Amino acid sequence: MGFVYHEVGMHCRKGGTEIEIKLEPHGGIRGRCSQCRRSAPGYDRLPERRWQFVPLWGIPTYFRYAPRRVECAEHGVVVEHIPWSDGKRPVTYAMMGFLARWARRLSWRETAQVFQTSWESVYRSVEWFVQWGLAHRELQRVESIGVDEIHWGHGLRADNFLTVIYQIDAQCRRLLWVGRRRSEATLRQGLKALGPEVVGGLLFICSDMWKPYLNVIATEAGQALHVLDRFHITTHLNQAVDQVRRAESSRLRAAGKAMAQRLKHMRWPLLRRGSRVRGRARQKLEALLASKLATARAWELKETFSHFWSYRSVIWAGAFLDYWCFRAMRSRLEPMKKVAHMLRAHEELLLNWFRAKGEISTGAVEGLNNKIRVMTRRSYGFRTYDAMEMALYHTLARLPEPESAHKFC
Ligand SMILES: [Zn+2]
Repeated sequence: MGFVYHEVGMHCRKGGTEIEIKLEPHGGIRGRCSQCRRSAPGYDRLPERRWQFVPLWGIPTYFRYAPRRVECAEHGVVVEHIPWSDGKRPVTYAMMGFLARWARRLSWRETAQVFQTSWESVYRSVEWFVQWGLAHRELQRVESIGVDEIHWGHGLRADNFLTVIYQIDAQCRRLLWVGRRRSEATLRQGLKALGPEVVGGLLFICSDMWKPYLNVIATEAGQALHVLDRFHITTHLNQAVDQVRRAESSRLRAAGKAMAQRLKHMRWPLLRRGSRVRGRARQKLEALLASKLATARAWELKETFSHFWSYRSVIWAGAFLDYWCFRAMRSRLEPMKKVAHMLRAHEELLLNWFRAKGEISTGAVEGLNNKIRVMTRRSYGFRTYDAMEMALYHTLARLPEPESAHKFC
């Protein structure tokens, strides 16, 4: 491209040793206009600048170069095109790609420490990487998406939630979009970002029973089959069982009853699928079930509901749903009644699960959701919402990557 290594030197500066690679323009090749990339006659030279390059043998390495200014016929006097950097940041593309790739394996802070650069510089590198990826990704053949809300940070304010859109097709599962809050406006914005072609081509949409999502999906993507999926329903049932257990536990403890002992340490066995509880926990569970405690009845209802998913026919599944809701309504367990209400109100969307059967991979939403939760909980030292958003795209969106090969020689 018209640049040559002029000299390579190793220096000791205050902060430690560093390598400097001094570049010079190739004598016979003219510089290019940074606007239109056409070669243009030289005008003058600017003072030397440094760009951080990939560390060599663990030693921070810099390019040193005095950019030329060229006189473009169209754009006048401008700085020449610098192929190793976008000109704004004192970091080479190669280094940004390098940092961004490491930032997937280490926390951003660790990445900055190991490669002797700033957190900010890691953040900017990931940002560049992600933006490149988003601009170059392919969105053809997106047929199924999952829409989900994720809690973030402390508290339950509107700002503590994110809306995420996943692609959940068998051949590709990835994060497509993240946005602040979980309002109708958020989801509209997300669907808009995917573009009318993608939204118009959707066949299946999975979501929770969150009202704003239901509204937007109905109006914006009416052609797609909207499914309330198993993962979310199971979550609601588990939460209800847990509420019953907690309420009962404190009631019994207040009354000083020995029964309270039975509920101790039962949180996880109760939330697990019945067939997966073994050993001592199983004995405790059986004792609990024989006890006629409210928690036992709630657990039983939850377990019974799992049959729902094994039906093949929509009609029979519907009949089972009616039967289950009837039992739950008579259970005198408020949290279970609430779930029954909710399921009844969304019966059609729930039965769509059977209409879509085989087309939607059950674990997909759950798997992506878990990954996001792990990231947002540990938060990896992301200081702002924007940084976290970058990190989510960076790790879960399967974006194409810019080549970081050295293209300047
Ligand atoms: Zn030009």
